[in-house]
Amino acid sequence: MNLTNPFCDADGDKLREECGIFGVIGAREAAPMTALGLHALQHRGQEAVGITSFDGQEFYSRRGTGHVAANFSSAEALAELPGIMAAGHVRYSTTGGSGLRNVQPLFADLASGGFAIAHNGNISNAMHLKYDLVQKGAIFQSTSDTEVIIHLVATSRYPTLLDRFIDALRLVEGAYSLICMTPAGMIACRDPLGIRPLVMGKLGDATVFASETVALDVIGADFLREVEPGELVEVDLDGAVRTHRPFGDPPARPCIFEHVYFSRPDSLMGGSSVYEVRKAIGRELARESLADADMVIPVPDSGVPAALGYAQESGLPFELGIIRSHYVGRTFIQPSDGARNADVKRKHNANRAIVAGKRIVLVDDSIVRGTTSLKIVQMMRDAGAAEVHMRIASPPTEHSCFYGVDTPERSKLLAARMDVAAMAEFIQADSLAFVSLDGLYRAVGLKGRNAACPQYCDACFSGEYPTRLTDLADRDRPAQLDLPVA
Ligand code: AMP
Repeated sequence: MNLTNPFCDADGDKLREECGIFGVIGAREAAPMTALGLHALQHRGQEAVGITSFDGQEFYSRRGTGHVAANFSSAEALAELPGIMAAGHVRYSTTGGSGLRNVQPLFADLASGGFAIAHNGNISNAMHLKYDLVQKGAIFQSTSDTEVIIHLVATSRYPTLLDRFIDALRLVEGAYSLICMTPAGMIACRDPLGIRPLVMGKLGDATVFASETVALDVIGADFLREVEPGELVEVDLDGAVRTHRPFGDPPARPCIFEHVYFSRPDSLMGGSSVYEVRKAIGRELARESLADADMVIPVPDSGVPAALGYAQESGLPFELGIIRSHYVGRTFIQPSDGARNADVKRKHNANRAIVAGKRIVLVDDSIVRGTTSLKIVQMMRDAGAAEVHMRIASPPTEHSCFYGVDTPERSKLLAARMDVAAMAEFIQADSLAFVSLDGLYRAVGLKGRNAACPQYCDACFSGEYPTRLTDLADRDRPAQLDLPVA
């Protein structure tokens, strides 16, 4: 059977999402708190935002495209979301048009009552599961992989909602941090490997869940702990907390790229300050690839902490040789290649007085397509830099992410197409070096990468994916499996 890919929008581009989620239960102003929490997570997704609340009787939802502030700063908007429990979601740009139907939290009326779900991550067998569900008569309302979980919960034969939820998750592969709401309360959980982050906090009697600790800070909540990989935390409307570990205790594999780029530097992740880890990566980079230069210049903002570490370790002065305009979004999120190029130029400007005539070390967190590095190196040369040595605070990104970080398809990754020397030539740098994978592991506080049992998900660098990638495998053999062609 030749169905179209059920996760494709009209333009045929697959949805890819990196997101931020937030939930609070037991607070008088749950929705305004959620709006604030999502605002602190805005860097995790700027395409769309949604909040669902529950007042003990009814669920209320509001969604919109664009930023949190544009949708949830007015009293009228928040008045539509009464109740002591709320959950919200900010969503990353997709490369194609996407309707409000994909904006989370998704909501459904199940036999057990209302069910809202906010998901960060990506389900790597969603197409496979969806195909089965559709064959059995399920009617999907969105093209989001998250909706698969709702249908699996709805069709599970277990008697209680919790057991149905666990039953559903047993069928799901990939990365998921979830915050769900039912009439009984909130359920938060992380996939068995803990690929995507999720933390838990307390504010008075209220319990709070968020993708990053920075969202707890903004509402004045205390950080309690991370939701453990494979843990499922239930919080009742009366505040009772129960935790479950339905998936055993496999070794965790949290995403190492959260430390490199995705999380805010003022968050704590895996017990470490993201900022300190980034500085430590810069120190490793200086030890591994010292450049003979006059100064260290960060590519703002993402390269700043690593550049500081590089400068401290190398003894070279740290200078702001590039000034960033704060009125454009992140480079990567623009949907078309043309828009991305324009954005690099709008976003960064050379501080000519600092760089002219100097041999500079430029530090950035990563090279993906190479667009940013090429433009920035050129900008430094145009400003009169004598030499430009590029240093990257992550290993070469050679592989796509199927767990919710929006790396492009492999053919567009510069490091998948070229070796380091060719990349240096492509970005027109005098030299180029990346931190080693072991160096990155040392920066997160380990002795190095344990090759037999890596402590993180580093698939974008190593190509070692910690889960099965069923949909990807199926895509290569649709004829045998009679599955949708992606
Ligand atoms: P590129 O121009 O494609 O090489 O993109 C590299 C820049 O995008 C880096 O400076 C990073 O700060 C940023 N970046 C890297 N990975 C991601 C990602 N998954 N999502 C958004 N931005 C990213």
